[in-house]
Amino acid sequence: MGTVLAVANQKGGVGKTTTCVNLGACLAERGHRVLIVDIDPQGNATSGLGIDRRNLRQCVYDLLINGIEAGELLRETEVTDLWLLPSTIRLAGGEVELATLPRRETRLREGLKHLVPAFDWIFIDCPPSLGLLTLNALTFAELLLIPIQCEYYALEGLGQLLSTITMVRSSLNPHLELLGVLLTMFDPRTNLSQQVVDEVRKVFGDKVFRSIIPRNVRLSEAPSYGKPITLYEGSSKGAQAYRELAEEVLERTHDKARSR
Ligand code: ATP
Ligand code: MG
Repeated sequence: MGTVLAVANQKGGVGKTTTCVNLGACLAERGHRVLIVDIDPQGNATSGLGIDRRNLRQCVYDLLINGIEAGELLRETEVTDLWLLPSTIRLAGGEVELATLPRRETRLREGLKHLVPAFDWIFIDCPPSLGLLTLNALTFAELLLIPIQCEYYALEGLGQLLSTITMVRSSLNPHLELLGVLLTMFDPRTNLSQQVVDEVRKVFGDKVFRSIIPRNVRLSEAPSYGKPITLYEGSSKGAQAYRELAEEVLERTHDKARSR
């Protein structure tokens, strides 16, 4: 049975998409079957996986709004065992349209739950907001990963994210659990990066992954080639960091499964 994991933080540019794509690719590299669901109208996970959005007639919008069967929307990627449910610019109107529809927070779950047994992992790449698209992700997910960028104001807005999680748990999805907080874009040359690491560890304790993603040019270049880091530069520091994260995610989820 697959595990559904949402990658969310309403703050923009913190590494949500980079994490979805590359953690997904690292797990696929180990033989896991992974589906990445792009619910961001910006479609960065879609283009980052080499899918030309202009050529897509249908996308996750059609699942959410028109109830199109998910199986018809899935795309293979260049990575064996890594699949994508793409987003196109049509999703830009999705947030507003969702608001007018019945069961507006559960439509992603309803449209995708039958695919859960077919994958080991379903990752959801959320947009930088706490609107209905992100709510749909949190309603479907069992686990949440929060990337935090090692920059000024790293913790800003997290209170709001945490209260959204509490709200979702109490009403829409009692199973939602924080798997971990991931520090991204760490720059060892700056004191600031280290200060953020210390501060985030103070607030989130054990929930912070030991693996820290460094700022790495290869990671920022890979999407323009439509490839995850494992294919673009598999021996880079960025690739190594995401492989370590994959290992740690597996450890944490195994521990969880055993303690059930
Ligand atoms: P948005 O909120 O807009 O969806 P996001 O949280 O998904 O953004 P990303 O798109 O993953 O963030 O990252 C933001 C930018 O930083 C991108 O240009 C990405 O290539 C770059 N980036 C992400 N992680 C790293 C890293 N570890 N090293 C260098 N560049 C990175
Ligand atoms: Mg993104």
